[in-house]
Amino acid sequence: MNPLETRNTHCPWCDAPIELTIDVSAVPQTSIEDCQVCCAPIVVHVAMDPDLDDDLVIRLERDGD
Ligand SMILES: [Zn+2]
Repeated sequence: MNPLETRNTHCPWCDAPIELTIDVSAVPQTSIEDCQVCCAPIVVHVAMDPDLDDDLVIRLERDGD
């Protein structure tokens, strides 16, 4: 089984589409990614939602906002 999942989302700064690769075995996790378009730091929160059959819930925040 592949523990990596990719999810498409949008940068909270510039709204550019970004693809996240998530290590499901390390959830819940918080990491910081730099947007490849605007280079702004994005805080990425990933958790499992038991109400959604343990689907991944991804929340992006602007770092330092
Ligand atoms: Zn951006």
